[in-house]
Amino acid sequence: MLIAVDGPLASGKGTIAKRLANWYHLPYLDTGLLYRACALGVLRADEDPGDPIAAERSARAVDSDMLADHELRSAKVGAAASKVAALPEVRQALMTFQRDFSKQQGGAVMDGRDIGTVICPQADVKLWVWAPPEERARRRHKELVERGEDISYDQVLAQLEERDARDAGREDAPMRRAAEAHLLNTGGLSIDAAFEVARRLVDAWKAEHS
Ligand code: C5P
Repeated sequence: MLIAVDGPLASGKGTIAKRLANWYHLPYLDTGLLYRACALGVLRADEDPGDPIAAERSARAVDSDMLADHELRSAKVGAAASKVAALPEVRQALMTFQRDFSKQQGGAVMDGRDIGTVICPQADVKLWVWAPPEERARRRHKELVERGEDISYDQVLAQLEERDARDAGREDAPMRRAAEAHLLNTGGLSIDAAFEVARRLVDAWKAEHS
């Protein structure tokens, strides 16, 4: 069973995807980490995230050992990730890793922006996780402050809107809801309630296919 969970920043997709993976005992991949690892490589080499040659070189060096780095979660790396992610060379370089992950026996849960549309259009269950920008900015701001970052809510909201626009507006694999993806609006929902909706959707698919 392959589950694709897509949606914008701080929509709750990562939390839901991780809990689905635990619940159904499936391997889980946060594909945003691949773009973040690529971006971090570029930043550490003191290069420009918008430079296709530097970014592609960094993307080709990404491997699973790099995905636990604490630095990947910073706002700075997230912003640079959305820049490298707009480059077709980078998306191409990171595709094999993602497709290989999706082919594991028994299935997988993957979250990102284009899993249901480009990476795994054959996914069995597709979720589009969404919440209003102000609520997503509140969640993200809390997370960053807890990490010790000095950033205001207004800055987070502005960065989030800029990131959404870049992710949805890029030519190659823009962030969008797959036609057949279930919409899960996490606005005003607790994590438990949102997970419950997701689990019911997956269970319905399983019941139909058993
Ligand atoms: O999900 P996360 O915030 O970690 O992703 C960082 C950036 O990586 C996103 O803003 C997006 O530009 C890019 N990304 C992507 N496709 C994915 C996952 C992430 O373009 N499947």
